[in-house]
Amino acid sequence: MHLARLRLRNFRNYARLDVTFEPGFHLLLGRNAQGKTNILEAIYLLATLRSFRGVGNADLVRFGQSGYLVAAGVVSDVAHEISIYWSRQERRLTLDGRAVRRLEEYLGTFRVTVFCTEDLQLIKGTARHRRRFLDLLLTQTEPDYLSWWQRYLRALRARNALLKQTTVDLVALDGFTRELVAAGQMLMERRRRLVPRVAARVLEAYRRISGGSEEIRLRYQSTVREDFATELVRVRDRELARRVTLLGPHLDDLEILLEDRPAAAFASEGQKRSMALALKMAQAELFTEVHGAPPVLLIDDVMGELDESRRAAFLPLLERAHLARSQVFMTATEESWPKELAPRLIRWRVESGTL
Ligand code: ATP
Repeated sequence: MHLARLRLRNFRNYARLDVTFEPGFHLLLGRNAQGKTNILEAIYLLATLRSFRGVGNADLVRFGQSGYLVAAGVVSDVAHEISIYWSRQERRLTLDGRAVRRLEEYLGTFRVTVFCTEDLQLIKGTARHRRRFLDLLLTQTEPDYLSWWQRYLRALRARNALLKQTTVDLVALDGFTRELVAAGQMLMERRRRLVPRVAARVLEAYRRISGGSEEIRLRYQSTVREDFATELVRVRDRELARRVTLLGPHLDDLEILLEDRPAAAFASEGQKRSMALALKMAQAELFTEVHGAPPVLLIDDVMGELDESRRAAFLPLLERAHLARSQVFMTATEESWPKELAPRLIRWRVESGTL
């Protein structure tokens, strides 16, 4: 799978960009604040409809403009044209020139894995980061997962809104509870099935990166221990008092243990970095396994943060991806780029919003 063409209009510091890319290993080189990461952000947005920096659409619009357009030609078994237009008045998502009606038609046409400094939040940050990691994996590997998520979210919002009212309509609450349980069980089942598959790959990748033999375990952690419906009945009075849904997959976590201790509290900074990289490698490997083709890899200046031995372990992964004829986009400054890869790189210079 590769990105063959990218078109940006009023996206971040790009007024207008039209560029074609071959498969292979692309290095985006430039001084700070020139727009290197913005390119990766646009590519990631096309695949996931989100910014990996966790910002909203309004921040992506070039200063002083009213909307942005990001469009691309992507090639896997077949070629597709995809585009996203966003302004406060209008949002348009297209696939091969037609408006997308259901997101699951769109998600999955293009897959990426990003490696960036924010990945450390998978270890250090709140449960939300880890839920998002699981959800991205599931939406990109199981086509109907997203519609279950949307069903769950609708029921959850409706239920929370009811619980906030002065007199709660208990019949309506029961209706939304049934819907919450049906969709919630499906989400939990999928996540529970996914975690061991991810865990095996994380462990293997971690050992490769760190060269150590520490034990890493991932454990799916849910507020729902037995039967979702029964447990909701049990907490009903507390929910009425607190006016919010207290159980469910929207509160799940993925526990990450190093030698049986929570990694966030006990792992060293270096170990945390290796774990975050290992989680992302596991994601890329799962995509490859499920779809039979590697995702496009986006690497945002993480090389500079790795010590020599971790870097030495990370580079072969990139080379393997390259050999598999996948595509890699890596940003770096003159100082931080991995000179070891020089002969295999397609180099681009990024300067104030031009390429
Ligand atoms: P670094 O190496 O420091 O990470 P970079 O080249 O990756 O640098 P980017 O984050 O891609 O930097 O780009 C930052 C530039 O984009 C800054 O000059 C910033 O002012 C500009 N920028 C960010 N958002 C917008 C926006 N909405 N409109 C116009 N310019 C923007």
